[in-house]
Order: sequence, then C-alpha cells, then structure tokens
Amino acid sequence: MSNVVIIKKLNEIEEMKIYYQTYLTDKYPPGSVFAAKTPSCSITAYKSGKVLFQGGNSTAEAAKWGESLSASKPAHTAKKANTPGSHLPENFETLSVVGSDEVGTGDFFGPITVVAAYVKKEQIPLLKELGVKDSKNLKDEQIIHIAKQIKDIVPYSLLTLHNEKYNKMQKSGMSQGKLKALLHNQAIGHVLGKIAPDQPDAILIDQFAKEEIYYQYLKNEKIIQRKNVFFSTKAEGVHLSVAAASILARYAFVKYFERLSKAAGFTLTKGAGSKVDEAAARLIHEKGKDALPAFVKLHFANTEKAMNIYAKKYR
Ligand code: MG
Repeated sequence: MSNVVIIKKLNEIEEMKIYYQTYLTDKYPPGSVFAAKTPSCSITAYKSGKVLFQGGNSTAEAAKWGESLSASKPAHTAKKANTPGSHLPENFETLSVVGSDEVGTGDFFGPITVVAAYVKKEQIPLLKELGVKDSKNLKDEQIIHIAKQIKDIVPYSLLTLHNEKYNKMQKSGMSQGKLKALLHNQAIGHVLGKIAPDQPDAILIDQFAKEEIYYQYLKNEKIIQRKNVFFSTKAEGVHLSVAAASILARYAFVKYFERLSKAAGFTLTKGAGSKVDEAAARLIHEKGKDALPAFVKLHFANTEKAMNIYAKKYR
C-alpha cells in the first residue's frame, strides 16, 4: 500500500475535514484531528500538521491538496540499502514503543547518558499533556520539570558512562559509535526486563549509525532483539518514547553536570566551543592536569586547546 504525507496548516486541515465530512470515521488515532475513509483511500490528519494518505489512490487524492512531503512505494520495495532509516510500520506514532536516545556525546565536559523508555499507546495523550516533545526545543528548566513528572510514569533504564570509564574505553580503541551501540543495546535490554511479560510493539533507536553498522558494533555482544527494531534520525519526532527517553537522558546529564561543576568549584560550560576551552584551562590551573580525565572526554580537540590556553594564561 502506498503512503503519501503532506503538511498543512491547521485551518487547512479544518477545510479538509469539511471536504471529507461524509467519509469521516469515528475512530480517531491519538493526536489526530480527523480520520476519513473514502472508497479509494484513507486520510488521517494530525495536530502536527501532517496529513497521511494511504491506499491505492493516495497519490492522486493528496495531489488535490498540495505538494507531498514524502511519497513512498509499497513497503516491500521501499527498503533500499542507503535509506537513512528504517521503513516504519503505518501509524507508528500510535504504537506502544521502547525508544532510546543519548545525550552528552558532543559535550567536552560530562558523561554520556543513554535512556531507553517504554511508552504505551494509552499513555501518549497524557505525555503530550505533560509537555513531552522534542527536547531540542526545550530549555533545561523545562526538561527538569517534565522529567520529574514522567520518571514515575514511564518505565525506563538510564545508563551513565562517566568520564573516567569513557576515557579508558576510548583509549582502548573503542569508537564513540561503538560505545553508543553498547549502551543503547544494554539500556533496551534493561527496560524490556523491567516491563516483562509486557512487550512493546516496536523498538525505536534514535539513529546515530546505519542499521548495518549498529549491528556490526554489536557483533560480539548479545543483541537484545532484532525483530521490530527500527532506526530513525530525529526519532524524537517520530515517537514520544524517544522524546521521553531524550528528556530523561538530558535530565540525568544536567544533574551530573551540576555535580561536576560543584567538584570543579565553578560552573562548567556545555558543548565543545571556545568557552569550554577556557573553562578547561581554568580547571587545569585549579585542580591540575591529572584531574581532567574525571571531567572531560579527553580525545576531543578541546584538550589540546585548553592546554595551550593554560600554558599562556596561567604559567
Ligand atoms: Mg540522539
């Protein structure tokens, strides 16, 4: 079955609803404005502005309303080797899903935190109500607020790879990609154990490596599950479980970061920019070079830059 997605403004979606009024169905998926079934295709319009056309005549039907965002061929031919992510089942956003995401991989200071979280389909409206969405659009204070509200509702597993251990593993030749794969795999395993005998409809990993490479990284590991496992970039926007995982991972990162700042004796800087180099130089000055491995990801270029600043500024 072919799918076409177009993006419409909410007032246009209201117009579409009127247009299809004789075909409206009374089963609306969560997050939708309306669902309709014409003799030739079904139409589902979401509050996000996405309108999904499914069925034989979907391309022609969608063309009445404007440009399509994506037109996919039937599922069995759609999966090419170089597709950026998995071909997701229909109405994926309405399924019960374990989602996983990580935080901290681009920050010089602080750990990597990985969370896998299970969001059941019945919880989706509640989580939306609590403000769960793409954490890139949320400030730290909002993330903390939302995380505190969802941490007892959503079963999840958090793994924190602190800096000492990260540096050891990195030094032993492990790439950051492999580290992430190990952590995701483990977190997913933990959360599946927590929710058993319940099982998710699917697992969605916020894609940091192509699927084949992910499994390549795990070739010496016990791979938790391969069936119904999907990969997507920007997966936070694909299913709320990844958005929830991302919020919980960021919350853990922020808390850890506060502790690190306390240990440093001054407020550390996130990211990997030039302010970070300055902060690291100050840390070297105040705590000594040997303190670095407990605070930073040593293989980042920031280490050398900080050493240079330290040499000029403090000696
Ligand atoms: Mg991610």
